Amino acid sequence: QVPLKPGRSLMDWIRLTKSGKDLTGLKGRLIEVTEDELAKHNKKEDCWICIRGFVYNVTPYMEYHPGGEDELMKAAGTDGTDLFDQVHRWVNYESMLKECLVGRMAVKPIAAPKDGVYLGVIKDQRISNSTDFFIVLGFDKPKESIFLLYFLFYSYDWFQTDSLITVVIYTKQKDMNAELVIVDCQDKRLRGEIIVDDYSYLVEVDLDHAVSEDVTVNIAEKVGKVEIILKKKDNIHWKMLGQSCEGHNTFIKRTDRGLFYRKCKLVSKTEVTHDTKLFCLMLPRGTHLCVPTGHHVYLKQIITGTEVVKPYTPVLPSLPLDFKEPPHHDGVHIYLMIKIYSCGLFTQALDRLQIEDYISVSNPEGNFKKSQVQTSEDLILLAGGTGFTPMVKLLNFALAEVSCLRTVKLIFFNKTEDDILWRNQLEQLALRDERFEVQFILSQPTKDWVGKQGKISSSLLSEFVKRSRKDSKVVVCICGPTPFTEQGVQYLKDLGYSQEEIHAFTA
Ligand code: FAD
Ligand code: NAD
Repeated sequence: QVPLKPGRSLMDWIRLTKSGKDLTGLKGRLIEVTEDELAKHNKKEDCWICIRGFVYNVTPYMEYHPGGEDELMKAAGTDGTDLFDQVHRWVNYESMLKECLVGRMAVKPIAAPKDGVYLGVIKDQRISNSTDFFIVLGFDKPKESIFLLYFLFYSYDWFQTDSLITVVIYTKQKDMNAELVIVDCQDKRLRGEIIVDDYSYLVEVDLDHAVSEDVTVNIAEKVGKVEIILKKKDNIHWKMLGQSCEGHNTFIKRTDRGLFYRKCKLVSKTEVTHDTKLFCLMLPRGTHLCVPTGHHVYLKQIITGTEVVKPYTPVLPSLPLDFKEPPHHDGVHIYLMIKIYSCGLFTQALDRLQIEDYISVSNPEGNFKKSQVQTSEDLILLAGGTGFTPMVKLLNFALAEVSCLRTVKLIFFNKTEDDILWRNQLEQLALRDERFEVQFILSQPTKDWVGKQGKISSSLLSEFVKRSRKDSKVVVCICGPTPFTEQGVQYLKDLGYSQEEIHAFTA
């Protein structure tokens, strides 16, 4: 993120798009754009970008782009879809840039294969009535040869009794678990998504008849079988499961699947500090969703007519002080700890939400893998402000489930004492669990503060980030404002920590 000039906030952009000004220079006309034409508009003062086949004139948006003009210019005059997906595929550009739409590409440009390997999926080669047979082929560009990467036998089936409909998805995944299965059943539409590394398998149908809101999901973890059990509203015989929706029965890259949102009810809002609140959202009854440790969700609100999306990392209702039992996800509530900024577009709107109001919550995303800490002996967490949020579930997971851990240390950077989130709970935890230690460091302390002060620096890190033994296996996780995270990673590398030993939480 770069500092934006005054008058160039997201709110200012939304105002400009509503002003009726001609932002494309085409007076509302939509045109078909050839690749040659697109390539001509590659300057700051005349910049067109193609995203998923649609071309936008982003010239007026330049100064409003939170990532800065240079980032946007990387895609000037080209197909920026891949770049966009890498950096922020969650941003609802269709809504944000709708007034900048120039038109469609005449021929949809094909994104360049990554690393010279093109993955093509040949789908729907039926080898039996109920089994779809997927072949994933790799195309090795330098050698110009095609090779078989792997076979996937992903399929679904369904059956019924008088009162129930059971949809079964066979994944053949040995380590299938609740975090990899996301089910939504609302208004006669069933959507079941299975996550397999970077891929997603989807079953999505408009059901033939109405079902009740209760949905049961059973997962046979060892064989990878997922059962979605729906209750019929009327005890009639169904002739078919329903009509297939777009994307039904496909196995594609996760990044190619649009973000799915469901409306969640705000059930409580409690103060954590003077500016930070804990929001408790309730998932609809037909939703099965567990947010994995270290992953975030996107919240979506319509603010003065424009859809605005921001990421937030779910926490727990409180820090469990007894780690004898692995944490139990109640499957119903999502807790978010959110700082309300006095001039924050999204957080101000969030703060205005009343209990029982609804807000859209996406499927989880993130690249943190529990396996990164599963074999570590020392876990060091560096958090700045609300960068504490991913550390909550991580702390819980580490202390409850990682048996080889000897030390867990949280180094928590804040501006003032009043900004420290869950300070009491953290101190309590340190008293109760001898593996856990917490260090608070303030950047703007009052003169009464006797603890450590300063911002993240090489000397502070060399003082607090240490292995418990010379050769112990360590993981350092870092999250906070972007400059904090970037500087922290650099200092850690300077101190001799390898890339594999560091995990930085980012968007
Ligand atoms: P904006 O309208 O974007 O900004 C208005 C003003 O607020 C800015 O000028 C600045 O003064 C201040 N401000 C805004 N954003 C920041 C910032 N990021 N750092 C410092 N000052 C800022 N936030 C949480 O509170 N809890 C979370 O769990 C959480 N999880 C996140 C997870 C990810 C992966 C990422 C990338 C961000 C996360 N954030 C979290 C930040 C959140 O997404 C928003 O950026 C934040 O809520 C501000 O949004 P806004 O629209 O209110 O502010
Ligand atoms: P803040 O402004 O209260 O700052 C907290 C501390 O961070 C400061 O005391 C200081 O020590 C450090 N810090 C702040 N700015 C710095 C800078 N420029 N250089 C070095 N250190 C700096 O923080 P906040 O308002 O609570 O913001 C928290 C940030 O964490 C937000 O930017 C948010 O987007 C980010 N966040 C990211 C994720 C994620 O990526 N997964 C999750 C949660 C929060």
